[in-house]
Amino acid sequence: MNINFEGKRILVTGAGQGIGKEIALRLSKYKGQVFALSKTKQNLDNLVAIDPKIQPICVDLRDWNTTRKVVQSILPIDLLVNNAAVACLTPFLDATPNEFDLTFDVNVKAAFNVSQIVVKNMIERKCSGSIVNISSQAGQVALKDHAVYCMSKAALDMLTKTMALEVGPHNIRINSVGPTVVMTEMGKLGWSDSQKAQSMINKIPLGRFADVDEVVDPVVYLLSDRSSMINGACLPIDGGFLAT
Ligand code: NAP
Repeated sequence: MNINFEGKRILVTGAGQGIGKEIALRLSKYKGQVFALSKTKQNLDNLVAIDPKIQPICVDLRDWNTTRKVVQSILPIDLLVNNAAVACLTPFLDATPNEFDLTFDVNVKAAFNVSQIVVKNMIERKCSGSIVNISSQAGQVALKDHAVYCMSKAALDMLTKTMALEVGPHNIRINSVGPTVVMTEMGKLGWSDSQKAQSMINKIPLGRFADVDEVVDPVVYLLSDRSSMINGACLPIDGGFLAT
C-alpha cells in the first residue's frame, strides 16, 4: 500500500509510549505533521529524540478545559487517533468510584472532547477527515476483572458509531479498532502471568497476541483515503478471538 500523509496535520493522543508512540512514528515516516499528545514529559522527550519532526504536547487529558485550549491551538487537524487510555484491572465487586471516573475520563470523555474540537473545525473549514479510536476486544466481550475497562471500550465503540452517523454527511469518517492483547506496559499489567496469558492465547485462533505493528497498519489504512467508504466500523484486530 503506497500511503503518503504529506500536507496532513495529525493528532495522536497517548503517544508517549506503547501503541500510540509507534502510530506517531509511522505517521511521521509517511510524511504527516504529527502532534504527539501525552501526560508524561519524559516519554515525549524520548519520542522527539527518535523523531525531531514530531511536535510534543504535554497535557493531562482528564483536564477538559486545558485539553480544549491546547487542541484549539494546533488546529487545523486533518486526522486524529484517540489512543490514550488507562486500564484499572479490579474485580467488579472491588472497583472504586475513582477507578471508574479515571477510566471514563481518559478512555471516553477525553476522546469525546478532543473529537468535538477537531470535528467542529473540520466542518467550519468544509474539509473531509478521518478519526480512528483505539478501542479493544474488551469493548465487545466480557473479560474477568475488566468490568470498568470493558464498559469504557464499549462506550468508545458506540461513540464511534454515533459520530459516524452525525458527521458522515460532512465526509468525516470515524472508525475504531479493537486489538487483542499487545505486550505494551498496559498489556503487561493484565497478561504477564503466564497461565492467564496462555488461557487467552488458547482462545485466539491464530494462537498468539498481536504485535504493535499489527495494530499500526490497520490504523494507517483507516486514516488514509484507501478506506474512503469505511465509516462507523469497529474492526477487530484479534486473530479471530471474537469469531469463536
Ligand atoms: P500504554 O502503553 O499504557 O500507553 C498509554 C498512553 O496513554 C501513554 O502514553 C499515556 O501517557 C497515555 N495517557 C494515559 N492517561 C493519560 C492522560 N490522562 N492524559 C494524557 N495521556 C494519557 O497503553 P497501550 O497498550 O499502548 O494502549 C494504547 C491503546 O490501545 C489504548 O487505548 C488501549 O486501551 C488500547 N489497547 C491496548 C491493548 C494492550 O493489550 N496493550 C489491547 C487492546 C487495546 P504517559 O506517556 O504519560 O504514560
